[in-house]
Amino acid sequence: MSLSAYVHIPFCTHKCEFCDFAAFAGLSHLETEYCQIVCQEIDQRDTSDILSRKLDSVFYGGGTPGLITISNLSLIHNRLLEKFGTNENCEVNLETTPHAITSEKVKGWIDLGINRLSIGVESFQDDELKAIGRDHTRKQAYDGIATALENGVENISLDLMYGLPTQSLDSWKNSLNQLFELSAAHPQIKHFSSYGLHLANNSPLYSKFPKDSSHYPGDQSHEEMFLLLLETAREAGFQHYEVSNFCKPGHQSRHNLSYWNNSEYLAYGVSAHRYLGGVRSSNWRSIAAYMKDYLGCETSEKIDRETRMKEAIMLGLRLRKGLDLVDFETCFGVSLLDKFEEPIERLTEGGFVEIENDFLRITDRGVLVSNSIIAELF
Ligand code: SF4
Repeated sequence: MSLSAYVHIPFCTHKCEFCDFAAFAGLSHLETEYCQIVCQEIDQRDTSDILSRKLDSVFYGGGTPGLITISNLSLIHNRLLEKFGTNENCEVNLETTPHAITSEKVKGWIDLGINRLSIGVESFQDDELKAIGRDHTRKQAYDGIATALENGVENISLDLMYGLPTQSLDSWKNSLNQLFELSAAHPQIKHFSSYGLHLANNSPLYSKFPKDSSHYPGDQSHEEMFLLLLETAREAGFQHYEVSNFCKPGHQSRHNLSYWNNSEYLAYGVSAHRYLGGVRSSNWRSIAAYMKDYLGCETSEKIDRETRMKEAIMLGLRLRKGLDLVDFETCFGVSLLDKFEEPIERLTEGGFVEIENDFLRITDRGVLVSNSIIAELF
């Protein structure tokens, strides 16, 4: 069974106006102490049952892990290596904003063993970046990508968002064109993620552009944006392997696949979520609480059979290859087709799902309403 580790680094230069993550600006003075505490958490969290297993992937997410010093990142990474070790070809991913990338940092990351960089570009349009409260420009995105490439990063993933205020179908097409031109010129860009904007009720963006604001693309434009994304990604040689993720053949995010395959994973840092021994648990979102009591401030839930079945359905259907019906029956002793005969028949007739080679998968048309489809099978 594969084993992954997620480490949450919550520091950012600026809080983007749409962001609902445990990410904090203005707290960089806590960086060294925070990283030392993460090391203590790695040391002290009980993982005695899995110490014989090595890591297949490590993901530094945030926040902006690209911001912290190489020495602080090394502290954490070396602690993970000492405790668990890694399997050959372990994927070690670091998330960063483009303007946090410098030559010195990239060299340090590569020396440390970071072998995949995930860069939050979000849009190649300055007015859209401004509208969602990013603190970088299109030029800084290009510069950051160029610095990563010049200094030898071999595996890059870019993040783009759609459904943004001020965004139009044309501007989205333009951003996609820029992405695919970059990936054609630089085969190191092997992956991208593309998420529709999720507008959190408590976000500053919500106050600036309320849900009903005419600055957002309407439902029809949103659908057209998604279909354009699918069409142009395929033309550019990317496979759509998960609802929001695309890769060149063979370059799926190994770490994220471990989530979608419902494998076990470790997690450290404020707000980090883990799944081990049939228990999902998460550290609280308060950095003050985490730093004061990193083992005490967590919420946990034992995952019973019914919940495991629901999770298997939800995660399996997010993958574009679909849910393996034979595996599901072997695992739970229940045929999904029998259990949900009526909704599956209805969704198939509506063109939202299809069955192929014993996999139940959501169609392109269905992806846009995937949450509703999954809800029908709960
Ligand atoms: S850089 Fe990323 S994590 Fe940080 S505030 Fe912006 S969206 Fe959130």
